Amino acid sequence: MEPAWEQTLEAGRAIRPYLTELFPERLSTRQELDFCLARALDLTTRDEEAAAAKVRTLLRAHPETADWTAKFEAHGAPEDAARRGHGPGGPGELVVAPRYTCPVADDYVWHRRSASVLPPLCPTHGVRVRPAPRTPQ
Ligand SMILES: [Zn+2]
Repeated sequence: MEPAWEQTLEAGRAIRPYLTELFPERLSTRQELDFCLARALDLTTRDEEAAAAKVRTLLRAHPETADWTAKFEAHGAPEDAARRGHGPGGPGELVVAPRYTCPVADDYVWHRRSASVLPPLCPTHGVRVRPAPRTPQ
């Protein structure tokens, strides 16, 4: 079982690709939120628990992100990246789409729900995300 703060950090990394969908009409809100999340996640290398506390505050600041985070916590992944299917453990197992992360700072997580979609660039570092399965803590 991973510590709660690791789950919070993962939610903070994984919500970034969803901000456009969560705030379609509010460009400044999503830009500010993405900037603040990136800054909070940047603290991870020095103090993971402090970084997680900042990320948690940001995720709770809007009903849209609080709702998204509750679903993330229930699935351990973005809701639309997890589904019940035939996993290695048998039918009915929760199968999560392949996880990609920013190779520079692990501050942006994206799940590849379709092989036809090109992985995006990390908006903070401008580099393409790379496959990075989540390792159990
Ligand atoms: Zn990055």
